Amino acid sequence: MKIIKSNKELEALNSKKLAFVPTMGNLHAGHLKLVSEAKKLEYEVIVSIFVNPLQFGKDEDFDSYPKTLKEDKLKLISKECDYLFLPKSKELLNGIHQETSRYNNFLCGIDRPEHFNGVASIIRKFLEIIKPNSIIMGEKDFQQTLVIKELIIKHNFKCKLITIPTARENSGLAMSSRNNYLTETERMQAAKIYSTLVDTKNLIFKNGFKRKDLKNKIIYLKKNNINVIYFDLFDAESLESINESPHLKGNFVLATAAKIGNTRLIDNIVFSI
Ligand code: AMP
Repeated sequence: MKIIKSNKELEALNSKKLAFVPTMGNLHAGHLKLVSEAKKLEYEVIVSIFVNPLQFGKDEDFDSYPKTLKEDKLKLISKECDYLFLPKSKELLNGIHQETSRYNNFLCGIDRPEHFNGVASIIRKFLEIIKPNSIIMGEKDFQQTLVIKELIIKHNFKCKLITIPTARENSGLAMSSRNNYLTETERMQAAKIYSTLVDTKNLIFKNGFKRKDLKNKIIYLKKNNINVIYFDLFDAESLESINESPHLKGNFVLATAAKIGNTRLIDNIVFSI
């Protein structure tokens, strides 16, 4: 695996069939699944590790975000990753364009007001300098995938967005670097997030969509020390909240963000009915 640290070195990759996997490091099996899928599709894979300051609010965990570069390198080598891009903050952020996403004020954008604009701005820069044929992202960050889809269309990037289903622990908990902040007890509590999403989806299929069912689920999660920020059903394209209906039809995302202690977790289920 070749390590790249400057924009100049990226020029040598221009003729390759390249898939780009942006990450903030502290890699787990979810990240590695993105690499494996890219290899299966016969891409050369470039993974970036960069904790993007533009997507963190001032009271968030930018400074304490876990950094495990040595282990990350070994994990990427084991998956036959071709290139690891470790950009220098100054060079990457230099002359960056401030993006605004139509999705910025929905779901996670409500309590993280600049988050998605920060994500879009950094990914735009990455796409401009890496020029990948594809970008590979996880469905766990469903809203983020919509932001990047919007970005690609807006700037006419010749880049395909490939999304990969969420990798989970045996308990159902979505893998996340932030799971490292959880105590053992909190980790057990956190597994209730996914099981509750599944139960809610099943209820919707059985009984139609009733707001009362959602309310009851939120109460249940709160009783289990899961502090719900939102837990709701959204249109999978516009992210508008869905009205109660006995006969839903369309593409939906049942999504949640919740805090356990100080740790903010997200998860979702995407489905069509
Ligand atoms: P992050 O390092 O959290 O910025 O995530 C980098 C990429 O990995 C994003 O596209 C995420 O959606 C993806 N990712 C994170 N966790 C998972 C997971 N559990 N399953 C699949 N993809 C994931």
